[in-house]
Amino acid sequence: MALLRAGTSPLAFKGGIVHQRPFRAATPIGHALSTALLLALCCLAARTATAGAAAAPPFYSGNPDVAAFRSSSEAELNTAQQAVDRLLAVQGERTVENTLVPYNEALAHAENVAYQSHLMGSVHPDSAFRANAEELTQVSSKFLDDLNLNHEVYEALQAVDVSKADDPTRYFVMRTLRDFRRAGVDKDAETRKLITQINEDLVKTGQDFDRNIRNDSRKLTVDSAVELDGLPTDFIESHKPGSDGKITLSIENPDYFPVVRYAKSASLRERMMHEALNRAYPANIAVLDSLIGKRYRLARMLGYDTWADYITEDKMIGNAKNAADFIQRLNDTTQKRAREEYAIYLKRKQEDDAGATQVNRWEMSYYGRLIRKRDFDFDPQEVRPYFPYESVKQGVLDVTSKMFGLTYKRIQDAAVWDPSVEAYEAWDGKKLLGRFYLDLHPRPGKFNHAAKFGIRQGASGMQLPEHALVCNFPGGKPGDPGLMEHSDVETFFHEFGHLLHSILGGQGRWEPIAGTATERDFVEAPSQMLEEWVWDPTVLRTFAKHYKTGEPIPLDLVGKMKRADAFGRALSTATQAYYSAVSLSIYNRPPDQVNTDRVVAELEPQYTPVPPMADTHMQTSFGHLDGYSAVYYTYMWSLVISKDMFSAFDKKNLLDPKIAKRYRDVVLAPGGTRPARDLVHDFLKRDYDFKAFDAWLADRE
Ligand SMILES: [Zn+2]
Repeated sequence: MALLRAGTSPLAFKGGIVHQRPFRAATPIGHALSTALLLALCCLAARTATAGAAAAPPFYSGNPDVAAFRSSSEAELNTAQQAVDRLLAVQGERTVENTLVPYNEALAHAENVAYQSHLMGSVHPDSAFRANAEELTQVSSKFLDDLNLNHEVYEALQAVDVSKADDPTRYFVMRTLRDFRRAGVDKDAETRKLITQINEDLVKTGQDFDRNIRNDSRKLTVDSAVELDGLPTDFIESHKPGSDGKITLSIENPDYFPVVRYAKSASLRERMMHEALNRAYPANIAVLDSLIGKRYRLARMLGYDTWADYITEDKMIGNAKNAADFIQRLNDTTQKRAREEYAIYLKRKQEDDAGATQVNRWEMSYYGRLIRKRDFDFDPQEVRPYFPYESVKQGVLDVTSKMFGLTYKRIQDAAVWDPSVEAYEAWDGKKLLGRFYLDLHPRPGKFNHAAKFGIRQGASGMQLPEHALVCNFPGGKPGDPGLMEHSDVETFFHEFGHLLHSILGGQGRWEPIAGTATERDFVEAPSQMLEEWVWDPTVLRTFAKHYKTGEPIPLDLVGKMKRADAFGRALSTATQAYYSAVSLSIYNRPPDQVNTDRVVAELEPQYTPVPPMADTHMQTSFGHLDGYSAVYYTYMWSLVISKDMFSAFDKKNLLDPKIAKRYRDVVLAPGGTRPARDLVHDFLKRDYDFKAFDAWLADRE
C-alpha cells in the first residue's frame, strides 16, 4: 500500500498498498508471506489453452447481491476443500501432479475468496454488503490458517520429490514448507489449537482497526468562503455553502491536502490536521493494544522473542536487529540536513511572525509551498491545470503500454460494484494477460488511502490475474475536471506499478508465488521506481496537457517542480524513518512495555525537528500498523533498491521499450519464483547498494 505521506498525516499514503490482503497473523501483507497461505489451483483440463483461463468470467459477473456473493464464495471454499481432500486421499508415491497441483488449487480458491471479500469489504457502496464481506474474510482466513496448520498436508507436501522439478517449483516447495513451519505446523495439537484461535481473533481485531479508520470520516465546518482564502478556485467552487451558509469539509485526501497546503488560515489548517490526526481516536487505542498483545503472544508460541523478530525473518532484511539498524542509518543520514531544512522553514515563518520560535506541524506544508514558490519559483497550483484526471489516467495507460508492449482494452458494460468503476483487459499481442479495475474516486465508507487490491492471483491454465486499484483522486463528477496534484499523479503511477507487477508476474503455474508474492520488503521497489517517470519532462508532456488549452506542460515548469521537490527531502525521509521506528518499536518488545502514545511521543523528537502536535494520536489511523505491523521500514528499504534499479535506465529516453522489456522479463515476470536479491542482481549485473539512494538524499543525482 502506500507510504504515509511524510510530514503530513498518516492518512496520506502515497504509493499503494500492494496487497492489503486479509491479514492473518502470519501474513500481514499480502502475498509475501506465505506460500503456505497462498497457493493456487490448477485444473489440467484448462491448462492447455490460454483461452481456457480466460473462460473464467470476471469475478463480479452478474452483479451479485449479498446472498449471491456469499453463496459463490462458499462454493469456492468448497472447491478448495475438495482439492485438499483429493490431495490427502492419494495413495502411493507423492508427485507434483497428485500433491502440489491440488494444493495449489486449494490455495487459489480459498485465496480468491479472501481477496475478493477483502476488496468488497473495503469498497462496496452498501454497508450491509461490506459487513457480509467482512464475515467472509473471517471464514476464508480461517480456512487458510487451518490449512497452514494441517500436519497431514504438510507431510504430504514434504514427501513430494522435487529434485528433478524446475526451479520455480523447487522454490515454491521450499517456501511452502518454510511457511508451514513458521505458521506452527510442528507444534503440538494443543498449541496449534491456540494458534488457530489467536489467528481468528487477529483477523477480527485487524478488521476493527481498519473499519474504525474507514468509517471515521470527520467533518469540519467553516462559516463562509472567506475562511477558505488561499485555496484554489476550483476547490472553493466545489465546496458551496449549505442552506445554513456554512461550508463542510471532510478529512479525506481531496479536502485534506489542499487545506493544509494552501489555506491562509492557520487555525483552519490546525483544525483540519487535528481532526485528521485523531481519526479513529480513541477507539483504535484499545484495538491497537489488542493487536500488539495478540501478536506478541503468537510470536512467543512460535518460538520467537517478539513479533518483530518473527515478522522480519522471511524478509530481505532477515531480522528485527537489522531493521532497527537500517532505521538508525536513515536517522543518521537525514538528521543534520533535516535540521538545516527546518531552519529554512523557521526563517520563512519569521518573515510573517518575527517572534516565532518554531514551525508547527500544521504549518509545514503551507510554508513548504511558500518557500518553494519564493526560492524555486514553483507553486504546485501551477501544475494542477495540466493534470486533469482523465488525461492522467490515459497517460498512465499509454506510458506503461508503450514501455511494456501492452494493450489495454476497456471492457464495456462490465459488471462493477459502483458505476464509477472501470474494468480493463491487459493484452500482450494476442495473449490476454489479465484484467483490472480502476476504482479511483472517494465515496462514503470506502477505503480511504491508495492501494492495489488482489482479486485473483494468476496461475497459468487456471485463472487470469485480476486486480483492482483503489484510490481517492479528484474528479469523477460531472463538470469537475478533477485537477490532480502532482503527488496524486505520482501515486497513480505507483499503484499502477503494483498492478503491472501482479499481472506480468502472474503468468506462471503456482498461484502462491505469483506477481507481488516476492519478499515483502522488495515489493514496493517496482512501484517506487515507476514514480520516477512522473518527473521526466518528455514523459510528462505526452499526457500532462492544460485542461483548457491542451498545451503540454512547459519544460521550465517541470524543471522548477523538480528543483522544488528536492527541498524538504531530508525532512520527509526523516519522517518516514520516524514512522518506521514507531512501527518497529511497538512490536519489538513485550506489550507491557508498550504505551503507544508514549512510543510516538518519545520517537518523534528523535527523528524530526518538527515539534509534536499536542492532543493528537497518529497511530490510531496509521493503517499500516495492522497490515504491515512491524515492517513499515519496507518502504524505505524498497526505495534504496528502487533508486539503484532506476540507475540502469536511460534517463534520456525513459520510454525506451528495450530496457523496460529486460526489466519486465528479469524483475517483474518472475514474481516470487526467486529471491528478490537475485532478480535485482541479474538486472543490475551486480549486487544492489546504497549509492543511488544516498545521492538522491543528498540531492546529488
Ligand atoms: Zn505501494
